[in-house]
Amino acid sequence: MSYSIAIDGPAGAGKSTIAKKVATKLGFIYVDTGALYRAIAYDFMKNKTSLLDKEAVENRLKIIEVSLAYKENQQHVFLNGKDVSKEIRQEKIGNVASKASALKEVREKLLSMQRDLANSHDVVMDGRDIGTQVLPNADLKIYLTAAVAVRAKRRYSELLEKGETPDLAVIEADIKERDLRDMSREIAPLKQAQDAILVDSSNASIEEVVAQIISFVKEK
Ligand code: C5P
Repeated sequence: MSYSIAIDGPAGAGKSTIAKKVATKLGFIYVDTGALYRAIAYDFMKNKTSLLDKEAVENRLKIIEVSLAYKENQQHVFLNGKDVSKEIRQEKIGNVASKASALKEVREKLLSMQRDLANSHDVVMDGRDIGTQVLPNADLKIYLTAAVAVRAKRRYSELLEKGETPDLAVIEADIKERDLRDMSREIAPLKQAQDAILVDSSNASIEEVVAQIISFVKEK
């Protein structure tokens, strides 16, 4: 039987950094499910598929093939055979992904893929609905959050480091908008699963949160 850890939470709570470190420490694979939604959003943007046109979305989804591969412990996302792992990290793709992910057809396309991965591997999987929808029987569920101002500041520093010229107020407004959309959508909204442990990383370092999660695994 494989072991699964579900980490859900709002944008910028540090899920991916923390999930990746937990996975490395435990020898599990790390599955960033946001990347799957981003790959679909990237395809929609490139092909000018309107999210309001149900038929266009359905037709495009028939053509789109998203897959994951792991090279030197790094997740790579492929869109119709092309590695798009770098391209999908842009801010605007995160925003389109948040809109596209509210569509039933998009979520359905990705569901079995995520479950298959968890059935065949020990995983740390992060996203918005992992503990509530994708892996309701996960061995450990974490809901990782942090104050919105803290999340915005972290994102701002990341972008500065990348050589960009971010605007803190714009980032904070974007994060708030994305949280609201992810939490209020009809299908698989972001929420804490009943049996998830709430971890607030506002005043904790990455290493502290990683250690905390590892201690929960050991307690189980
Ligand atoms: O985590 P990340 O910012 O890469 O996710 C991009 C968007 O994909 C999120 O804002 C969310 O709307 C969507 N998503 C989702 N369910 C997941 C993972 C991501 O709806 N499991």
